[in-house]
Amino acid sequence: MNKFNTIHLHTPYSDGINYSHEYIEEAIRLGLKSIGFSDHAPVPLKYDWAMKKENLPRYFDELNYMRKVYGNKINIYIGLELDYLEGLDVKKYIDFDQLNLDFVIGTVHYLYSDRIDGFASADGTQERVDKAIIEGFGGDGVAFYKKYYQTLRQMITEYNPLMIAHFDIVEKRNIGKKWFDADTDEYKAHVEATLDVIKDSYIEVNTGAMAKGIDVMYPSEYILRRCRAKNLRVSVNSDCHFTSALLFAYDKAIDRLKRAGYDCSYVFDGVMKKVKF
Ligand SMILES: [Zn+2]
Ligand SMILES: [Zn+2]
Repeated sequence: MNKFNTIHLHTPYSDGINYSHEYIEEAIRLGLKSIGFSDHAPVPLKYDWAMKKENLPRYFDELNYMRKVYGNKINIYIGLELDYLEGLDVKKYIDFDQLNLDFVIGTVHYLYSDRIDGFASADGTQERVDKAIIEGFGGDGVAFYKKYYQTLRQMITEYNPLMIAHFDIVEKRNIGKKWFDADTDEYKAHVEATLDVIKDSYIEVNTGAMAKGIDVMYPSEYILRRCRAKNLRVSVNSDCHFTSALLFAYDKAIDRLKRAGYDCSYVFDGVMKKVKF
């Protein structure tokens, strides 16, 4: 039996590669007790990696069917990775209250920019994020991360999600301090202010970028130490887009957590359950 799992998992309903049954069979093979699906929720915006709104009922039908087929071997949970888009009512768009989800992963991928009167992408390829910073924020990496953390605070406050995805995703395309320096008092003040608005949410330790060959784990060790100091709870997840990455680099995530002073993580199995290292 493997005591870890992932509830951050993408299928072709959004931008994942493998089908739900493939992840489930891999999870059973690895001895997981539970698994959760969290495709990108539909959004009222042209958005290339989100689920199409008309597919939402099929997503539930398929995963409910999977529960019937595999439910005696593994607990299967249905969630969504729910984007926060400043000024747009994402929850209303998907009739959120009627969905009866098992969990929500709250996330910020897109930042509103006055300059372009639209959304700039904080995630994606290097070219895409570079373009977002240049066009959306005049090439000012500090303005970019400030807007990100400001939007993240709004998301946390308004959604109070079970888990906050990839807390410092602005670091993904900032390798070599290309756009800003995270080791400054100004950056750290934004991190601090954001951690301080968390009520019930767990911080995700996310190995998804690593599985795609990008040497960034979220959050940074510095941020995890601040989380520990504030007694915030953490959950290791793979933000998985293909079956071979189901538990990618969990050993490295646990090492980082230990260095930050943690001796446990939480795993979602109906409720969040503590797992000691
Ligand atoms: Zn994400
Ligand atoms: Zn994701």
